[in-house]
Amino acid sequence: MPLRMKKNKDLARADDSDHKPQLSGDTPVQYVKGVGPARARLLKRLGIETLEDILFHFPWRYEDRKDLRKISSLKYGNHETVLCEVVSAEIITTPRKKMKIFELALRDDTGYLKSKWFNQPFLKKYFQKGQKVILSGVVKGNPYASAGLEMENPDFELFGNEDSLIHTSRIVPVYKATEGLSPKQIRTLMFNTVKAHISVLEDYLPEEVLDRNKLRPLQWAVREAHFPEEFTDVAVLNRNSGPAHRRLVFDEFILLELGLAVLKKRETLEKGTSFSVKDGLVNRFIKSLPFELTEAQKRVIEEIKADMQRPLQMNRLVHGDVGCGKTVVALVSMLIAAENGYQACLMAPTELLAEQHFINIHRMVEALGIRVVLLTSGIKDKPVDDISEGGAQIIIGTHALIQETVRFKKLGIAIIDEQHRFGVVQRAALRQKGFNPDILIMTATPIPRTLAMTLYGDLDISVIEELPAGRKPIVTKIFFQSQKDRVYSIIRRELSLGRQVYIVYPLIEESEKLDLKSAIDGAEALKRIFPDRKIGLVHGKMHHDERESVMAMFKAGGIDMLVATTVIEVGIDVPNASLMLIVHSERFGLAQLHQLRGRIGRGGHESYCLLMAYPPFSEDAERRLKAMESTVDGFRIAEEDLAIRGPGDFFGTRQSGIPELKIANIIRDIVVLEAARKEAFGLIESDPELDRYPLLKKMLQRKWMGRLELIKS
Ligand code: ADP
Ligand code: MG
Repeated sequence: MPLRMKKNKDLARADDSDHKPQLSGDTPVQYVKGVGPARARLLKRLGIETLEDILFHFPWRYEDRKDLRKISSLKYGNHETVLCEVVSAEIITTPRKKMKIFELALRDDTGYLKSKWFNQPFLKKYFQKGQKVILSGVVKGNPYASAGLEMENPDFELFGNEDSLIHTSRIVPVYKATEGLSPKQIRTLMFNTVKAHISVLEDYLPEEVLDRNKLRPLQWAVREAHFPEEFTDVAVLNRNSGPAHRRLVFDEFILLELGLAVLKKRETLEKGTSFSVKDGLVNRFIKSLPFELTEAQKRVIEEIKADMQRPLQMNRLVHGDVGCGKTVVALVSMLIAAENGYQACLMAPTELLAEQHFINIHRMVEALGIRVVLLTSGIKDKPVDDISEGGAQIIIGTHALIQETVRFKKLGIAIIDEQHRFGVVQRAALRQKGFNPDILIMTATPIPRTLAMTLYGDLDISVIEELPAGRKPIVTKIFFQSQKDRVYSIIRRELSLGRQVYIVYPLIEESEKLDLKSAIDGAEALKRIFPDRKIGLVHGKMHHDERESVMAMFKAGGIDMLVATTVIEVGIDVPNASLMLIVHSERFGLAQLHQLRGRIGRGGHESYCLLMAYPPFSEDAERRLKAMESTVDGFRIAEEDLAIRGPGDFFGTRQSGIPELKIANIIRDIVVLEAARKEAFGLIESDPELDRYPLLKKMLQRKWMGRLELIKS
């Protein structure tokens, strides 16, 4: 069989055929040869709209087909790729479950193989007796039993001689398919496009950056990442870490870091208010607290004071584990502004959290004579006049503060709580309202240092890495439905000690109504199980006043058990609550579980987090629950979360307004990231507008889609 054909040399050269249309990277795909309007629609589903998008659509894995296997050499348990011939094709219906199984019998000159696909009877039309086919999958079946070898749901490709240079006899890229466009069709399209159009890509990185980092040229990297010729170690390719990927990963990182460098440069140059730190009000406030500040809190307060005294705008991120005491730190900065005759606002992601902040902060600064107001969309008499006339010194609210027509008299500092829902874009919106206030962002998601530098590379960062003394560790344990009675007896014991309890129900957007119902039903059921206890219910659909009164009652101890949806995720502070039961805990994200758990263990009582889980659930869900059981350290939780979800999803890059990372992985490629970051900040330092590198500047603007105002074309 002539499988090893001569190496394909054409690929290395640009297409020199006569009809060479004038295409550029921005040309819509439908004008690319072999595409057309119908395919363009299919490609759009893969996020491909331009010629450049095609070129940057990389395979998700590679297969070594230089040497297709013979059936006799297949190894049980291995992922193998084999070329064989169809003997028969039939659809079998299982007697009991009526499942349709499509089954192929195959052979080559060394043996026989079976292949099965479940619930895909339509596959039958592709296979005739005698058809040659390439199968790729895990080899199953007991090699010692008469049944022989088998593959289940393997990837397959029909084998024809016409384009064997693309699909066999080489390291073959495997692309994500979409309905109507098979992996093989995509591969053909890629092959032809790379061959004909790779020359539209211009290398935008400065020569010296390439040299210093030993990076290969862009065209080489793109071509090799699609159809490896020079570097063909499949295992390394599949980890996205050969020299081609290294270049592409570097590019993603440097474009990200350049943008952050530009933002940082701009923000550090931005004129701001130079507050004078008199310490009078601040000291009185600190003295009034019923506790000593932790060393970490003191340090971060000093960092903030130094920022506020400078005549430049502050852009600082404060992060630290849930319960580390960020609110106090934020309050200090607000009091500094107030003492200087400026207003301060604090923006929270939810109404409930804004309300809680308002209640807490109001209580803490009332005695100092500071006027605190609350503004959310749910509030009837909005204190807008109070804000515009300057009577309100501290304004607490939701997004309503930047979205509605709120006018501040003299805004000095804006504090944004819970960064994971606030991105670069929202920060810009605040600035566009016409103020240039100092900005302090508090996030409850602790992040490893290097990652913080990357994602918030445009900000200065403070970490409160220490929890206040006297916090008792929280014991966390998974329970199944069958153990309900044990759970109730644990709850009963806590209640009898005079403690209070949270019962949390999931709230998932698509089925909000259903979940709400489950929380309401849950509260009813609990009333029957604990007839002598006072049970309250809060959820997001409740009216603000009603919700506040339930919360206040819980806080005052008038309610023993608070049934809630995830509205209580953040900001609620009831030290006497020592137990939390999370129902359907398998449905929650890890960060969310950790946030919820942070509501307990605040009062120096032994505390318990019971995770009620309802199998069957996914492996990821199991990992999340196990992580909760094994640690209470937010930094370790964040790392585990990152490992489970992958960096893209973890950071929600799209939402935060930074360019998407397609092949770079912040964890795996950390070394490349650091190199790219260094280069990026160096370039912006020496050439803030990138005037010396117009191609790079253009690329940067494209990637950031107009969000880098400093760089003008
Ligand atoms: P988070 O960082 O999660 O926003 P909070 O600011 O809500 O944490 O603080 C959590 C709880 O810890 C609050 O009850 C707060 O009053 C208390 N707290 C803050 N700082 C200290 C401290 N230094 N010592 C003891 N308790 C503190
Ligand atoms: Mg907080």
